[in-house]
Amino acid sequence: MPLIESIEVCVARVPLDKVTYLSNRTVVDRHYGLVKVRSSDGVEGIGFCYVGNAAGELFRVAVEQLLGPVLLGRDCLAVEGLWKEMYQEALLQGRMGTVMRALSALDIALWDLNARTAQLPLHKYLGAVELDTVPAYASGGYYVDGKTAGHVGEEMAGYVELGFKAVKMKTGRWSPQGEESRVKAAREAIGPDVELMLDCNNGWVDTVQAMQYLRRMEAYDPYFIEEPFSPDDVESHARLAKLTRIPVATAEIGYGRWYHKHLLDMGAASILQTDAAVCGGITEWKRIAAMAAGYGLQMCPHWFHDVHAPLVAATPNARYVEFFWDDQVLNFRRLLDRQLAQEKGRVVLHQTPGLGFNFDEAQVSRFGRWTSVA
Ligand SMILES: [Mg+2]
Repeated sequence: MPLIESIEVCVARVPLDKVTYLSNRTVVDRHYGLVKVRSSDGVEGIGFCYVGNAAGELFRVAVEQLLGPVLLGRDCLAVEGLWKEMYQEALLQGRMGTVMRALSALDIALWDLNARTAQLPLHKYLGAVELDTVPAYASGGYYVDGKTAGHVGEEMAGYVELGFKAVKMKTGRWSPQGEESRVKAAREAIGPDVELMLDCNNGWVDTVQAMQYLRRMEAYDPYFIEEPFSPDDVESHARLAKLTRIPVATAEIGYGRWYHKHLLDMGAASILQTDAAVCGGITEWKRIAAMAAGYGLQMCPHWFHDVHAPLVAATPNARYVEFFWDDQVLNFRRLLDRQLAQEKGRVVLHQTPGLGFNFDEAQVSRFGRWTSVA
C-alpha cells in the first residue's frame, strides 16, 4: 500500500518577454504554483496551477499549512476520500481562488502519481476515448503594442498553415468598430471553414455593451464568445445567450460542481471551459464533465494543454484542447522538460506513464524555490 511520504511546493514567477494585454488586464509576469508528491514506493507525481500575477505565495501557505498536512502518511489511492478531506479543510479558507487552486494542483499530482505507479499514461489510466491524438485549437490573438488588425489576421492564418482547423483570438479591448476590424481580418485570413473563437476575458459590463460588439461580429460566424462578463454574473450570461446566435462559452474561472450546475440550470453556457487546475483538480473536473454530458454539453478546457490533453482524450463529451503554440503567453512551458507536439491540428498524446513530463528543475530554480511540507 503506497503512502504519501513527502510533498514539496514552489511558486515560480515567470516574466513574459513582452507585456501582453487582454480586454481589461495587463500581464507582465505569471505566478505558477507547483507541487511534487512522493510515495513510499519512490514514485513522484507532479501538479501545478496558475495563481495570477501577484501574491502567488498564498499558494505555498495553502499547501504547507492547510492541505498538505491532510495528505502526508495517507494512502495515495484514496483520491476521492482525500479530495473530500482537503475540501473540508478548505471550507472556511477558500472554496474558490488560490486555496482551491492549491487543492487542484495536489489532486492533479495524486492522479499523476497513481498513473505513474500503474505504469500507464494518464489518458489510459482514466479510461481513454482517444488513444493517440486529440483535436486542438490554436490560442492567440493577444494585444501587444503596435499589433494591428492585419497582424491578427496574419497570426491566425499562420496557425491554419500549421494545420489547425480552429483558432482563437482575444476581443473586447478596442471599440466595437475596432474589434470588428480585427475579427473581419481574422475571418478573411483563415477562410470560411476554420472555426474562429473569440475570448473577451470578462471585459463587458452588461448585455447592452456586449451586443454593441456581438451584433457586428455575428456576420463573421464565430464558434463561440468566451467569458463576456464576470464569472459571477451568471444572469447576464444567460440573457446574452438569448440575445445573440453566437454560442456563449465560459467557466475557466469556475470552481466546483455546484457553480457549474448553476451555470447549466440558468442556460448561461453552451460550452464549458472548466480548468482542472482551477475547479478542484482532475477529480472535480471529471464530475463536472459528467454532469455537463447530462445537459448535452461539450467541454473545451481552458489553457494548460499539458494536463487537459489527457482529460479531453478520456472524456466522450470533450471537443477541443486549447493549444498554445509558443511560450510567450503560456510561459509555463518553460518549466517543463517535455512539450506536447501537434500534428494537423491534433495534439499528440504522451504515451509514457502519468502526465508524461516532469518539471525542468534548472528552469524552475531560476524562477522559484522548493520547500517541504513538514
Ligand atoms: Mg479565456
